[in-house]
Amino acid sequence: MTTNGGFEPVFCTIIPPHVLDKVAQADDPVLAGPARRTLEHDAYQRTHRRLTTVLGAPAVAASLADEKPLRSIYDAEHRQSLPGTLVRSEGSDPGQDATVNRAYAGLGATFDLFLKVYGRNSINGEGLPLDATVHFDEDYGNAFWNGEQMVFGDGDGEIFLDFTLPIDVIGHELTHGVTQYTANLTYFGQPGALNESMSDVFGSLIKQYSLGQSADQADWLIGAGLLAPRVTGVALRSMKAPGTAYDDDVLGKDPQPATMDDYVRTGRDNGGVHINSGIPNHAFYLAATTLGGSAWEKAGQIWYDVLTGGELYAQASFADFARLTVAAARDRFNDGEELQAVLKAWEQVGVPTR
Ligand SMILES: [Zn+2]
Repeated sequence: MTTNGGFEPVFCTIIPPHVLDKVAQADDPVLAGPARRTLEHDAYQRTHRRLTTVLGAPAVAASLADEKPLRSIYDAEHRQSLPGTLVRSEGSDPGQDATVNRAYAGLGATFDLFLKVYGRNSINGEGLPLDATVHFDEDYGNAFWNGEQMVFGDGDGEIFLDFTLPIDVIGHELTHGVTQYTANLTYFGQPGALNESMSDVFGSLIKQYSLGQSADQADWLIGAGLLAPRVTGVALRSMKAPGTAYDDDVLGKDPQPATMDDYVRTGRDNGGVHINSGIPNHAFYLAATTLGGSAWEKAGQIWYDVLTGGELYAQASFADFARLTVAAARDRFNDGEELQAVLKAWEQVGVPTR
């Protein structure tokens, strides 16, 4: 594992600002109000985070034989102060609050995938305690990793439901922590879209691993179950068919491309980090489903090797990343079907590997 002397955490929300912008323009104040408040909060956090100096990884030593998660769930009681009141700590029994219990389980499922499949002890590889706050703010329509902990809103119930509902959203946000401690991909343009894609890939794998699903059984959606019943859509993103997750009068249409032919050049959303992530997302989906079986074993291992291998630099382009996955496939699996599946996946989405 690489040690990051100078990483700069980014404020990563699961719902990007361009989506909330759209909802904030709704005629109905019941819909627009919570979206505006969520945007105001997130804008403040983005600025605030840039001014905050985050020191290196906490020195938490855990023996390799003794690896288990160290979870603490806090309740913000609908206020904005973090972390809030401690309501569940590691090893304690489930309580009455299903949101607290889902957050606890989601943190555990994330820890399990990284430890049991990839031998990684928590987010930083050194047993980082996992802290999460639920019931953040009033009607807050987002979830985020702030560089130090997870935060979940309850949603407004009109557009978004409780953000602890989809386990892949929890996995997505915590994977931003893994990226922060490893390749530390710059959160802008193509490296930013790779950063987003890493979170979708491992978020989906955490869901698949916890449900025991094969690549063929998985839904390959991000955030299924998060959209309220009135919304026309199935999820926030689709790795299987980017651009098809939702098409709604309030939320707008899923803007993700699946291939480089439809690459979106934009200054919004940090240069389209949540938009063009559809391209590497789809490449992962293609490689994983071509190989079949458990997606975390082959395609997931190759992607993990690149993320943590030390050669993926912070400004990497899609093509840089694609070349590294080809090299990683060869290193780990020789010239077998894995290499062919990876080459073909990138070819199908139009990203060169040489
Ligand atoms: Zn993200």
